[in-house]
Amino acid sequence: MQAEIIAVGTEILLGQITNTNSMHIAQGLAELGIDSYYQTVVGDNPARLASVIEIAAQRNDLVILSGGLGPTKDDLTKQTLAKYLNVPLVEDEAAMRAIDDYFKTTGRSMTANNRIQALYPAGATPLTNHNGMAVGAFYQSPDSADFLLLPGPPREMRKMFELEAKPRLQAAYGQQAQIYSRVLRFFGIGESKLVTELQALIDGQQAVTIAPYAKTNEVTLRLSAQADSKPAAQVALDEFEKQIKDKVGRYFYGYGDDNSLAKVVIKTMIDRQLSLTAAESLTAGEFQSTIGSVPGVSAIFPGGFVTYANRAKHQLVNVPQTTIDQAGVVSEQTAIAMADGARTQLETEVALSFTGVAGPDDLEGQPAGTVWIGLAYRQTPTVARLYHFAGDRQKIRERSVMAGLDLLRHALAAEKLTEK
Ligand code: ATP
Ligand code: MG
Repeated sequence: MQAEIIAVGTEILLGQITNTNSMHIAQGLAELGIDSYYQTVVGDNPARLASVIEIAAQRNDLVILSGGLGPTKDDLTKQTLAKYLNVPLVEDEAAMRAIDDYFKTTGRSMTANNRIQALYPAGATPLTNHNGMAVGAFYQSPDSADFLLLPGPPREMRKMFELEAKPRLQAAYGQQAQIYSRVLRFFGIGESKLVTELQALIDGQQAVTIAPYAKTNEVTLRLSAQADSKPAAQVALDEFEKQIKDKVGRYFYGYGDDNSLAKVVIKTMIDRQLSLTAAESLTAGEFQSTIGSVPGVSAIFPGGFVTYANRAKHQLVNVPQTTIDQAGVVSEQTAIAMADGARTQLETEVALSFTGVAGPDDLEGQPAGTVWIGLAYRQTPTVARLYHFAGDRQKIRERSVMAGLDLLRHALAAEKLTEK
């Protein structure tokens, strides 16, 4: 079962409106399990409309048209379809009554072209418009594709599609095997490396298909399985996910489209009641700003420090001047002293520190991108890790923040940071 959506409207072609109708209809088709391999947009031009109807009818079992059901001259969708089907347009009595009533109650005079809105191709089932006057139609054809005609205005289209069209599509075609998907999110591995690691799985994919997407600072994989029921799909997805994790599991951090490393880390910290602070030099508060965007973070984040100058490192988080003098600002010792100082000041369970060279210039003879991130946790020895990030100043600061979150994630996963 295969369907094509055709959105009719010159204003879509000109980029004046967004084609939300096709998006909405496509989501509905996916729910019904109806495959859709093509979407078309065509202007209000009968010859071109006729040609896309012809093409769509040849390669699909169902063609869905939205737009052009109105009373004006440029609204020609059903006229064009009727011509293609070689059937006349007939009047839907109920729709005509509703149009009459509308003009009676509002006291306006009805122009002749309003009758057009009650017309539909003979042989079709007329579909009620709950938010407007133009009637829709579902035309089932024994020897060609079926057609669904929907109005253009989204509030008319949606209501008609949900209340009138979907039940009829389901009755006509039954529930088809549906596509179920799952999104896996990875940090610390690039798209090309991820794909290379998973090449054998990608080449051999059958029941489950796998689509990688590179996002800012991370990669996601969308796994999709076609199945008759959700549980059946889950089994297939679980099995495939396991094979993926066997290869690249250490980079995996979470599920879903609406997710991030910050959300996953902060949620775990909240669950474990681990309070967190940070002392930030090169990131200048960007780490705190990032965790601040996660709802609920206030339960574990009392605040923190931006310690840009040496004086601030000393005065705010008690980094000894001798440490800076002897080891330098961009050093393991300073990172450790910053994390320790921040944790002591705010009495949190955990503290991170960021000190490094954001660039573009070198600092203390170290190139831009050299960054130390410290992690202090209760009475265990504080550690710091050295990173070398590529990119411009903003990228280096962003990558530092992500690396700090990843450091926390690994410590949480290794049960190094445990329940209070
Ligand atoms: P009307 O009776 O209002 O003329 P119609 O069925 O003839 O409705 P169109 O004239 O094609 O539909 O479009 C009417 C309005 O509906 C457009 O100006 C636009 O705002 C909106 N619209 C049409 N098609 C789409 C679409 N694909 N996605 C989102 N909005 C759309
Ligand atoms: Mg119109």
